[in-house]
Amino acid sequence: MDMELKDIADDVYACLQPDKGLGWSNSGFINRGGGLVVDTFWDLPRTRRMMELYGRVWKRPAARVANTHHNGDHCWGNQLFEGAEIIGHRLCAAAFGKESPELMQQIRDGVIADPSLADFAAALRQYDFSGIRLTPPTTLIEERLDLDLDGLRAELIYVGPAHTIGDVIVHLPEQRVVFAGDVLFRLCTPIGWEGTFANWCAALDRIIALDPQVVVPGHGPLCGVEGPREMKAYLEYVRGEAERSFHGGATEVEAAKRIDLGPYAGWNEPERLIFNVARAYRELRGEPIDAPVDVLAMVGGMRELQRHWGGESRVGSRES
Ligand SMILES: [Zn+2]
Repeated sequence: MDMELKDIADDVYACLQPDKGLGWSNSGFINRGGGLVVDTFWDLPRTRRMMELYGRVWKRPAARVANTHHNGDHCWGNQLFEGAEIIGHRLCAAAFGKESPELMQQIRDGVIADPSLADFAAALRQYDFSGIRLTPPTTLIEERLDLDLDGLRAELIYVGPAHTIGDVIVHLPEQRVVFAGDVLFRLCTPIGWEGTFANWCAALDRIIALDPQVVVPGHGPLCGVEGPREMKAYLEYVRGEAERSFHGGATEVEAAKRIDLGPYAGWNEPERLIFNVARAYRELRGEPIDAPVDVLAMVGGMRELQRHWGGESRVGSRES
């Protein structure tokens, strides 16, 4: 299991996973005031490994866990922090049941034998979703929650809906650190669920305005403010290109094929572009921010883009 404990400021750490595709997320830890972990991992084995790494610096497991949002790769390990206070946005907690570990395990094991899910199933095979009990936040944030961790100030700020309905970032003003969750994907292509492009860009602007020295993205390597700046530029560019194609009557896949990704072609999983084009189309059709995403159609769209670009399938081709 490829995982690294990184010392990023006094008493502040990140547990980083290299971005090898679906679900390779990051976590943070503040070793003060009983300990605050920012996000757990997608399955129990990975979260146990994370706890081993944090265990090098903590005396006992953290008393608090904050979830940046409800996607499983940020919270399905919560239960391993027995007795901890779990903190998240009210809408993050409400969305917890939207994704099911049992269903993921079935797809992984091929119990649901749908050929269109083959790539997805292959990507899931490096995870083990057995034994997961969804453990949602019970301390709920509305706009903001400030914690005093033995003199270290941590601000939990609601910036959603950007990537999901309940996005929270964790800001440490004195250390100039932001744990961005999936509001920031670094050097990998973002996927959004609930929210709008405008809200997502506003959330990235809020991170930039905090003037952090270190930003811990939900996926990808550590960065400074160039991370949110570049991702905002990507979102604005894709939104603009998609809008032109939309008014020209192109389908979502046609629109995505027309986009010249330029510098963004080097980001991991460029084919996720289809998710972003589809999100722009949903907005342009005037659909609500939480309109359902047709994931199967997106999987098909990704495959078509890969074929169009002449590359090999990236989804599921990676090994842990
Ligand atoms: Zn994620």
